[in-house]
Amino acid sequence: MTTPTVDNIAGSSTHEGRTSPAGPDQTLRITEIFYSLQGEARTVGLPTVFVRLTGCPLRCVYCDTEYAFSGGELYSLPDIARRVSTYAPRYVTVTGGEPLAQPNCLPLLSMLCDAGYEVSLETSGAMSTQGVDPRVVTVLDLKTPASGEMQRNDYSNIPVLRAHDQVKFVICDRADYEWARFKLDEYRLHERVADVLFSPSFGQLEGRQLADWILADNLPVRMQLQLHKLLWNDEPGR
Ligand code: SF4
Repeated sequence: MTTPTVDNIAGSSTHEGRTSPAGPDQTLRITEIFYSLQGEARTVGLPTVFVRLTGCPLRCVYCDTEYAFSGGELYSLPDIARRVSTYAPRYVTVTGGEPLAQPNCLPLLSMLCDAGYEVSLETSGAMSTQGVDPRVVTVLDLKTPASGEMQRNDYSNIPVLRAHDQVKFVICDRADYEWARFKLDEYRLHERVADVLFSPSFGQLEGRQLADWILADNLPVRMQLQLHKLLWNDEPGR
């Protein structure tokens, strides 16, 4: 891994995933930048810097980051990079809200990759991932019926998934589970990506119940619990 410095973080890049050079005039509205343990997905438990972008066009019934819908502060891309570099992390996760709702998310992702971090993107699945730097691990949600936002799924994202990407279902009830199982098979998701994640909706479905269903059907998925909620009960900034 390249040792991240302020200079190589804020420098220009010619990577094809970039949509525009990352200049100091480019800004993003940011809710918080913080250092914690990754709560989900393949790098769960690993120390990670989170960059939470403000704003989301969706309103999932179980949303746990409503505080990121509005407000925030404008940061230039080099300023974000400097803030991230103070933690000297190996892993950086860009999340939201819906990070792709702000177009400058794309040059931010490339800039963080150029700096040598292992970068992941958490996205709702409602926005196109076409311009995402191929070095980024995309964690793509597919919204289930009980989320209230199933109609927002952009299925054109599925053919552009890369082998290192992940697809996540947050499951609220048995009907959601059946729907997720159908989508898993319809798109052969487990053959496209490294991990398909089934996560019980916190406070709505017992993890043990979901585990029983997965085992009974012998599904090729990874069940996950949200570590940050178990540890810190979803406190912002943890
Ligand atoms: S996509 Fe994420 S941030 Fe947006 S409403 Fe749904 S759960 Fe909340």
